Amino acid sequence: MTRGVALFGATGSIGESTLSVIRAHPERFHLDVVSAHASIEKLVRIVDEFQPKHVVLTDPAGADELLAQLPHHFKGSVSFGEAALAEAATGADVDVVMAAIVGGAGLLSTYAAVKAGKVVCLANKESLVMGGELMMQAAKASGASLIPIDSEHNAIFQCLPMGYAAGEEIAGLRQLILTCSGGPFRTATTASMQSATPAEAIAHPNWSMGQKISVDSATLMNKGLELIEATHLFQVDQSAIEVVIHPESAIHSMVEYADGSMLAQLGSADMRIPIAHALGYPERLAMDVERLSLSALGSMHFDPVDHEKFPALGLARAASEAGGDRPVVLNAANEIAVDAFLHARIGFMDISPLVDQCLNQIASQPISCLEDVLTIDRIVRQTAVELIGERA
Ligand code: NDP
Ligand code: MG
Repeated sequence: MTRGVALFGATGSIGESTLSVIRAHPERFHLDVVSAHASIEKLVRIVDEFQPKHVVLTDPAGADELLAQLPHHFKGSVSFGEAALAEAATGADVDVVMAAIVGGAGLLSTYAAVKAGKVVCLANKESLVMGGELMMQAAKASGASLIPIDSEHNAIFQCLPMGYAAGEEIAGLRQLILTCSGGPFRTATTASMQSATPAEAIAHPNWSMGQKISVDSATLMNKGLELIEATHLFQVDQSAIEVVIHPESAIHSMVEYADGSMLAQLGSADMRIPIAHALGYPERLAMDVERLSLSALGSMHFDPVDHEKFPALGLARAASEAGGDRPVVLNAANEIAVDAFLHARIGFMDISPLVDQCLNQIASQPISCLEDVLTIDRIVRQTAVELIGERA
C-alpha cells in the first residue's frame, strides 16, 4: 500500500522537489492533501497531475478563482484558510506531512501535524524557531516523529545512530558542526553590501530556493535560524554547535563525538536528496540526481564566520541562549525586515540592525502555549513595521 502524503506549501521550491520525489516513486507514495497560498495556476497543475483527495488554499481570497479553474476530473474536496489546513493535517489517510510552508505562517499546520502524531518531514524551520519547546513536547506526547528536511539537519540526522529520534539526547556527542556556504556575499565588501539589490541577494551560489530563505542565506540569518532549529531537534545547547563556512556546499554538516570521531554527510546541493531520505526513511530510495564527484570537486575549504559583516548569526545565538520569547522576536522581526528589503523599503544592511532593534525594544514575555507565541509574533511584526515606517 502506498503512503499518503500531505504536502503543505506544494507550490514552493521544497514543494516542487517533494513532488518530483513522489513522481519518481508512485509505488510508494500518493499525494493525499495539497496546499498553496495564492499560486492558483501552479496548484491547479499539481491537482491535475496528482489527483489528491483534498486541496487547501490558505488564502481564502482566491476561493472563487480556484473553484473555477479546478479540472473537471478532480473528485476530491476543497477547503480554505489556515484552520482548514491544520485540520487537514490530522486526516486518517495522511501518513506523512511535508511541512514546506515558508515562515511563521507554517506554525499552526506543522503543530497540528505533530499533535496528531504524524511523521512530520520538517522544512518549515521557522515553526521550530518560534515554538520549538512546545513542538518537541507535543511530539513526545503524541508519538510523532520529526524528520529534518533542512539539508544541515538532515545531514546530522544521517550521521546519528539508526533509530535515533529527534528530541532525544545524542549519546557521546561533543559538538554539531553546521556548514554554511557563506551565501552570495561571502567575499563581498561591506560597502558593496550596503547597496545590494534583492536580485543580488537571492542569487545563491549553490542552492536554488525560495526568496525568503535566499535572503536569509545572504545575511546568514538562515544559519542563525538553523542553529536554533538544531538546539530543539537534537537537544543541544547553542554553545555545542559550531558554524563553519564551507563554500563548496559538499559537506552538508557534521557530528563530532566524544572519542574524536567526526562524521559527515556529503552530496550534491539538491534538496531532493534530503527529501528522498526523509520520505523513504529508514529505507533508501533510488533517485536520479547529480552525483557528487570528489575528483571533479578537487578540494574543499573551511573558514570561520565574519561576524562583523554578518551580525545575524550572533543575534540568533544570543536569542537561543536567552531562550523564552527571544527566538520568536528574532524570527518575526526578520520576516518583516526581509519582506521590506524585497520590496525596496530598506537596504540589505538594515535587516540585521532592525532585528536587533526589535530584540532590544520589545520586553520579554513568558511563553506557556501556542497562543502566547502567536501573540508575541503579532506584536513584533507590528513593531517592526512601525520601525521601518520611522526610517522612511
Ligand atoms: P517558497 O517561497 O518557494 O514556497 C513557500 C510555500 O509556502 C509556497 O507553497 C507558498 O504558497 C506557501 N505560502 C507562502 N505564504 C503562505 C501563507 N501565508 N500561508 C500558507 N502558505 C504560504 O519557500 P521554500 O520552498 O524555499 O521554503 C519553504 C520552507 O522550507 C521554509 O521554511 C524554508 O526555510 C525551508 N527550507 C527551504 C529550502 C529550499 O531549498 N528551498 C532548504 C531548507 C529549508 P504560494 O506559492 O501559493 O504563495
Ligand atoms: Mg539549510
